[in-house]
This record gives sequence, C-alpha cells and structure tokens, in this order.
Amino acid sequence: MNMEYRRLGSSGLKVSALSFGAWVTFGRQIGDPVAQKLMHTAYDAGINFFDNAETYADGQAEIVMGQILKQSGWRRSSYLVSSKVYFGWEEERPNQTGLSRKHIVEACHDALRRLQVDYLDLYFCHRPDPETPVEETCRAMHDLIVQGKVLYWGTSEWNADQLEAAYAVCDRLGLHAPQMEQPQYNLFHRSRVEQNLAPHYARRGLGTTVWSPLASGLLTGKYNQGVPKDSRLDQPGLEWLRDAVLGPGSDRKLAAVRQFADLARELDTSLPRLALAWCLKNPHVSTVILGASRPEQLTENLGALALVPRLTPEVMARLDRISAPVAA
Ligand code: NDP
Repeated sequence: MNMEYRRLGSSGLKVSALSFGAWVTFGRQIGDPVAQKLMHTAYDAGINFFDNAETYADGQAEIVMGQILKQSGWRRSSYLVSSKVYFGWEEERPNQTGLSRKHIVEACHDALRRLQVDYLDLYFCHRPDPETPVEETCRAMHDLIVQGKVLYWGTSEWNADQLEAAYAVCDRLGLHAPQMEQPQYNLFHRSRVEQNLAPHYARRGLGTTVWSPLASGLLTGKYNQGVPKDSRLDQPGLEWLRDAVLGPGSDRKLAAVRQFADLARELDTSLPRLALAWCLKNPHVSTVILGASRPEQLTENLGALALVPRLTPEVMARLDRISAPVAA
C-alpha cells in the first residue's frame, strides 16, 4: 500500500492523505479488540493520524485509543494524535464545556491522561463558542503550544469569518494562529470547504482534516433499502443522526447515491472508494478522516487512494452534475 503524505496547510507537518477517527465507534459501537485491529490495519497501511475528541463516548474513545497506542510499541514520532475541546465529557456543569481558558486547559490535561501521551499533535476547538471572547481562546491555545502540550491548534466547523477573527487576534498579539480547520466534506456537503474557507488556503496556509467523507455511510449505498441492523444509523442514541441523514429530502440524495453507484460500476470500482477518492482529489484537503466499524470496511476504503489518478476531468464533471442539485 503506497500511502500519500500531504503537508498540513503551510506547516511542515506531514499527514497521511487518509487518516482514521474514533467517533461513534471507539468505546461505544465496537469492542476494544476491533478498535485495536482497526488501528493496526490503519497504521500498517501508512496512516499516521488518529483523530479523537474529549466528547467521543464521553472520554472513553480516548481511553481505548490510548491503551492501543501504549500497547502498540509504535514510536511516538511515527504518528499524530488529536483531541478536540468544546462539548465536554462530564455532566455539563458550568465550565465543563466551551472554550474558556479553564475548560481548554483542563480538557487538554484530561486528553493527555486518557491518551497516555505527553503532547497532542493537533488540538481542535470543536465548535465556536459565542460565550467566550476569541482572544481568551487564542491565548489559551497559544499557551498550550508554548508549554509543549500541543503542537498545532485548529478549529472545527468554524466559518471563514470566525477564523478571520482568530487570525486578527493572533496577528495583533503575536500568538500561534490556527493551522487547520476540521469541516465536514463529502459529495453532499461541499460549500464550506470549496467556497467559504477558500480565501484562507492561500492567504493563511490553512490545512483541512475533513470529516464524514461517506456522509456517515450514506455514500456507501448501505441505506438504499432502509437501515441495516447494526449499522451506524441503527445505533441507539443516534436517532438524531438518523433523522439528519435519512430525514426530509433524503429521497433525492438516495437517488443520487444510485447514480454515483452506476458511475463506480463503470469505473470498475466500489462506491465508497469513488466517494473517498473524490474528497482526496481536492488539493485543499490535507487528510480525509475515515471511520469504520469493521476492518473489512477500512481495507476497502484504503483502496480509494489508487483510484484518484483515474478521476479524469470527465469523471469529475459527472460527479459534479449528480451532486449539484442535492449538495449543500
Ligand atoms: P464516514 O462518513 O466515512 O462514516 C463512517 C461509517 O460509515 C463507518 O463507521 C461505517 O458505519 C460506515 N462505513 C464506512 N466504510 C464502509 C464501507 N466500505 N462499507 C459499508 N459501510 C461503511 O466517516 P465518520 O462520520 O465516521 O467520520 C470520520 C471521522 O471524522 C470520525 O471518526 C471523527 O474522527 C471525525 N469527525 C469529526 C467531526 C467534527 O465535528 N469535527 C464530526 C464527525 C466525525 P457502520 O458500519 O456502523 O454503518
């Protein structure tokens, strides 16, 4: 398997074009031995970035990942691990969520303990916090970098204006500025990455670590005939996600999925590979974060890299035509 490595925006950090995340699965949907097999499959394929967050399974996803990292014997210099702060993991009393200095610092210490590492390679503000001045957030992130507890900080689901406000503060005060944003990006969810954030790629060297590249599985075709047992959208507690993915308007998306599948067949590939290769084709994507509940899914999805050179302008134009009427 030939992994490709991309720079995280203008930084010197090399991140594998495909990476692997723990949302919904680790500490929740899958057992720890499966999580271990997934991490090892990923690492053996050249994946060097593992994505996590304080809120995933209320901290349990970081505990599981930390144990796997510890047992793996992998050199710390050979992988990157992230956490994200905002949603909290406790009972949500005041200061247990958000982007105040207090919660950012405490969440960082908790993530380091759970992941059993001395520093986080990437640390994200998981959402903007309207109740904290952006200067307080920027200073707290900068201080963690100066202390050596975080190497690069970034944001997730911040829009261009919110990032601009952070850049202005960091420029004025000489602070480390956000290096990466983590937006949703897939054939149904495009405008944030392709339009809104676009000015920041060249001007600020912003990198992107994109999430839900298969729209939680919709872009595998697995929901074409309803919700299969044990799939993500069948998980108790994820009814909100099921409503979001398969709610009003999803008929048109499912029709588009069938057209994407026809195109995949013509190219003699699978639908998940086609959908992932399309994400990889965007040069402003630093890494596409994969999710998987089974090792076979991950092995299948890793094949997307080899498909990228076959996405000719004609194929890309066809994908655009199918996606345009339904994409946000
Ligand atoms: P995807 O959209 O790729 O969904 C992954 C899920 O789709 C899998 O868990 C599996 O679910 C199903 N699937 C994947 N491959 C296949 C396949 N080949 N065949 C059939 N089913 C398949 O990505 P995620 O939504 O998991 O996002 C990836 C990562 O991004 C997360 O782990 C997390 O690290 C990050 N993320 C960040 C967010 C943020 O706000 N910053 C939000 C969400 C995710 P199943 O088998 O259970 O049906």
